Amino acid sequence: MKKGETMSEASAPKKKLKIAVDHNLDEQVKKKITVDAQIAGRNEKGKIDFAELRAGGFIKQRQKDKFTVRLKCPGGKMTIEKLKKVVEAAEQFGSDFVHLTSRQSMEIPYVDYHDFGPLMDQLKEAGQEVASCGPRVRVPNACGGCEYNPNGLTDTVKMADIVNKRFFGIRVPHKFKTSFSGCPFDCIRSTTADLGLMGGVFPKWNEENCTGCTICASACTEGAIEAHPQTGKPIFTPEKCLYCADCVRACPTYSWTAEQTGHNLRVGGHHGRHPVNSTVVARFLTDDEAVTAIEATIEWYKKAGEGKGRIRIGNLLQQEGMLADYMAALKTAIGPAKLVNNPVLPEKITVAR
Ligand code: SF4
Ligand code: SF4
Ligand code: SF4
Repeated sequence: MKKGETMSEASAPKKKLKIAVDHNLDEQVKKKITVDAQIAGRNEKGKIDFAELRAGGFIKQRQKDKFTVRLKCPGGKMTIEKLKKVVEAAEQFGSDFVHLTSRQSMEIPYVDYHDFGPLMDQLKEAGQEVASCGPRVRVPNACGGCEYNPNGLTDTVKMADIVNKRFFGIRVPHKFKTSFSGCPFDCIRSTTADLGLMGGVFPKWNEENCTGCTICASACTEGAIEAHPQTGKPIFTPEKCLYCADCVRACPTYSWTAEQTGHNLRVGGHHGRHPVNSTVVARFLTDDEAVTAIEATIEWYKKAGEGKGRIRIGNLLQQEGMLADYMAALKTAIGPAKLVNNPVLPEKITVAR
């Protein structure tokens, strides 16, 4: 080992490194990453192209030669078998910890760029892909959803997996994050995602078996159900309903049932220096309709944002005529029945000081 040389440099293979970035990055980025890796992370001017590496999920750290490698965990789910292999890779090429990001990705910090090749080989063997950054469709995240969460109304993790396979990495004007929440508790904060899908149920009351026990009125914390003063039977105010299905779960005689169940679709939220909430544009979408709506939204965003620089979809929708144009695109994709009439964009865009 030469003086001043790191362990990784000493053990780095003499042959040029090649990283296979085989997710849905556009050809230009894919090529650049491969070229950079082949010349040990440096471009033709001898400088590492950090921006392009970042786009492929290799994020430059403060420390010399060190990168954080971001791994894909769609819906926050990873099998234990894969997790063990990722831990092995992290032990070999990273430090003594991993980092779990705010959007459910797992990151391996302190990877020396000379080790990209062998690390990628090991991750590939484990079936583990690398996530991406930059202006593209990001890995979707999700709460536990209906598979095991008692409040869950939609299969959020399944949807995150579908969306990841179909749309991950597509180039768009700015970052584009999709979040699936299983119910209006919104543990995953889908209301501040570029595209948020929240599980919901529209309840329907059948008087036949109702005993007037008033349990549903007590269960509804939104004030959407009041007990009739004489009969105890429910008086429903749909405008106050949050679609949580607590009444359906609470009723001992099954007098409340789910008339509609599905994803309530929101668009245009984001965090950052100027956080903004999203706007509800469609209700009770089936899984298939939700995928179609997501595809239509991505296509619209790509087209409408062309030539406008790095602009989040929420900011694009604030421009004159854009919301109507988007709603027309959505109508073409999923039909008019489930669209929200006259959706209202948030007036307030907060400044995070
Ligand atoms: S949003 Fe609802 S379904 Fe999802 S984790 Fe929270 S309570 Fe459970
Ligand atoms: S779905 Fe939830 S908010 Fe709506 S009426 Fe039932 S309990 Fe109330
Ligand atoms: S909980 Fe069911 S049975 Fe009791 S008042 Fe409500 S609808 Fe009727």
